[in-house]
Amino acid sequence: MSFAKDCAIAADALEAFAARALHRDGPVITQAPMKDLASRLDLGRLIRDGGLTGDVLARFLDTYLAAATRLVDPRYMAHQVAVPQPASAIAALVDGFTNNAMAIYEMGPPAATIEHAVLGWMLAKAGWRPAPFPGEAQPTGPHGGGVLTHGGSLANLTVLLAARGRVAPNAWTEGTPRNLVILAPSTSHYSIARAAGILGLGQNALRHPPCDGDGRLVPAQLGPFIDALRRDGSEILAVVANACSTALGLYDRLRDTGEVCRDRGVWLHVDGAHGASALVSERLRGHLDGLELADSLIWDAHKMLRTSVLAAAVLVRDARDLDGAFREEASYLFHDKDQPGFDFLHRTVECTKAALGLKIFAALAAEGERGMAAFVERQTELAKAAAAWLRAQPGVTVAVEPETSIVCFRLDGDDALQLELRKRLTARGEHYISTTEAKGRRWLRLALMNPATEMRDVETLLVEIREHAAAISGAADR
Ligand SMILES: *Cc1c(COP(=O)(O)O)cnc(C)c1O
Repeated sequence: MSFAKDCAIAADALEAFAARALHRDGPVITQAPMKDLASRLDLGRLIRDGGLTGDVLARFLDTYLAAATRLVDPRYMAHQVAVPQPASAIAALVDGFTNNAMAIYEMGPPAATIEHAVLGWMLAKAGWRPAPFPGEAQPTGPHGGGVLTHGGSLANLTVLLAARGRVAPNAWTEGTPRNLVILAPSTSHYSIARAAGILGLGQNALRHPPCDGDGRLVPAQLGPFIDALRRDGSEILAVVANACSTALGLYDRLRDTGEVCRDRGVWLHVDGAHGASALVSERLRGHLDGLELADSLIWDAHKMLRTSVLAAAVLVRDARDLDGAFREEASYLFHDKDQPGFDFLHRTVECTKAALGLKIFAALAAEGERGMAAFVERQTELAKAAAAWLRAQPGVTVAVEPETSIVCFRLDGDDALQLELRKRLTARGEHYISTTEAKGRRWLRLALMNPATEMRDVETLLVEIREHAAAISGAADR
């Protein structure tokens, strides 16, 4: 069997790829036109004739990796996607090979057990009571529950379905009542607005409660906002808080927000796709103080937990809330079974599902909890150091003091300048960053996901930005 040999070929190619990227040797990003790549990769011939093994595989991987975006390069500061712990990538390979689609226990007992255990670990980090394993003694009173989904967007949708099940239990059979509204700050991720669309509420059902100048919920104004909506006949499906916001990386005040929601019997959902990873750090978990008042949390492992895409957790304080999210039955899958495990199927949009827990577990088990905490703390400290340094540079404005691994800044000039700078940076490919809109303006944005990124990468970035700025203003003067 050539499998082990081909794995060795792939491992060698990836290790060489990572070594070059770590040494900042070559561009962090290149974007060849699709039709050139299709021909360089010899896609047509390979699909027709097959034979992707041995030397052919080695040549293919060389071409593929030369064109791939290098998240491993310390100058990768663009998007909120993890630089995977290698153990997580190996887990992805094992999952790809075994194909244990574990949404029903019989299709992947170890994968399902690991998902259960990872969810239990996350629930405990959230301060909620983990679910017992099937057959274990049930605790008295409710316990938490969860499920892993293919990404945070699907996780948000799943939570909002669960919340709808609580406010409007008949919605599954009779459709969504027209007076339901979702309250989320205007800084919430677009997947919340999408969920409103998918749920059939329409995006107009997404209402933005009052926020401060940095786009954070103002808890003191949330209560009156809810009361006014209710007086006008609306029913609140959920309040969504950011932990943290996507653009600026700021946390909403969960305790005050949670008290407002609890007093009014409103479901509080915490979107912690990026920022829930602070829960692993004793030093940083205070950002989520008050989480125990929330009903649900989502947490992306493929952002700050060094996990290969995609793996997100839906977590609820009371497992029964999640069990009410989906009501349909498929008789060949859903029937009373005598089995030693647990089916996650009834909690997800997906039917067939990858062993997402295995990838999260592998990253955790390689780093250990303390190693993972040290990583999250390091990236946050780096963001603070970068912001402090940038703030001291002439002609640079920093948007806010960072609370996570996200830094937003801009060079004196208009929004178009920031976009042009990012375009030129990306074209040269020596630094890779993104931009975002916040506080009514366009910012250059760093997401410091890479454990090898150092202050010197931020410094060389600014040198390059100034070069482009000079070229742009030179061209304007001519
Ligand atoms: C990234 C992000 C999401 C979406 O997660 P995906 O895994 O990319 O689907 C949702 N909410 C917030 C706050 C995010 O930062």
